[in-house]
Amino acid sequence: MQGESSLYDFAMGTAFSITLYKHGQYKVLDEIFTNIKTIENLMSVNIPSSDVSRINAAAGIEAVHVNEKTFKVIERAIYFAYLSGGAFDPSIGALTSLWGIGNDNRNDSRNDYHRIPLQDDIDKILSLVNWRNIVLDSENNTVFLTQEGMALDLGAITKGYTVDRTVDIIRNAGIKRAKIDIGGEIYMLGEKTDKTPWRVGIQDPKGVHGGIIGFIQTGETSVVTSGIYERFFEKDGIHYHHILNPFNGYPADNELLSVTLTASSAMDADALSTAIFVLGYENAGFLFETQPGIAAIFVFKDLNIKMSGDIDFTLTNKAFNSAMQE
Ligand code: AMP
Ligand code: MG
Repeated sequence: MQGESSLYDFAMGTAFSITLYKHGQYKVLDEIFTNIKTIENLMSVNIPSSDVSRINAAAGIEAVHVNEKTFKVIERAIYFAYLSGGAFDPSIGALTSLWGIGNDNRNDSRNDYHRIPLQDDIDKILSLVNWRNIVLDSENNTVFLTQEGMALDLGAITKGYTVDRTVDIIRNAGIKRAKIDIGGEIYMLGEKTDKTPWRVGIQDPKGVHGGIIGFIQTGETSVVTSGIYERFFEKDGIHYHHILNPFNGYPADNELLSVTLTASSAMDADALSTAIFVLGYENAGFLFETQPGIAAIFVFKDLNIKMSGDIDFTLTNKAFNSAMQE
């Protein structure tokens, strides 16, 4: 028996939990905690001194020198914006501020309340959402947003990035087995002691927090979900959630309730799950061809479930139907 060392805390507006399957690893947990806080302090739109806030404040004015971690995340975000034809767009910050969905619980002076914006405002703000107007200079590590009022929001990729860096720390410490959960973005590292597969529950996107539709069995992998249930509000019977469609400015509205991805990189899974959620099941197919390592579980509004790629899913919630789909 090797024992466990665990850490539960709160950062990036979300809860996180780290379990290392080794006794007494407090130094490693300290390093993980410090690293999560460092990333939050660099990339949060809710911290005025963060790299992202400084970039946003200088939009249309000047290029801003940033930490190389921030630079790398923005570079990767732009890659996924390109790959997804703009469905994932890290320059969506002005639009997410306009809606304010999910900001209510954040320690945040930017936007205290969600709202349904006026169509005129959406139309104006949409012209400020365009990842092609993010100018990177990799020699000097600077970032420039070419239009005044434009803003970055890395909320769809930073949790995944943080999970991957946490995995690096755990590996470097020589720890073989661990479970990482940062705001529902999960990484199962190594093998279980008895060599049986890990089990990861897939959240019921219609249920209250904690309810699951089933579970996957897997070796080492990240498990990342984008869905309508994470941050939302309801008005006049309409559900407005936090994943916005950059093409029309409204919460992404298609046949999906959620999409869960498994991949070796949580950052890639994070960006791609958001992109796939915006694109919808039919239109997202091409992304799987470019990313052969990923697999997916799609949960549909009609309560059907489909899978893509190599994934071992067991349905336990009788309200949903499962049909294998390669
Ligand atoms: P996720 O939960 O990973 O799908 O990310 C959703 C978060 O990313 C939202 O709370 C916003 O901060 C931001 N976001 C919303 N829509 C998009 C989009 N189309 N592209 C990139 N980021 C987005
Ligand atoms: Mg994401």
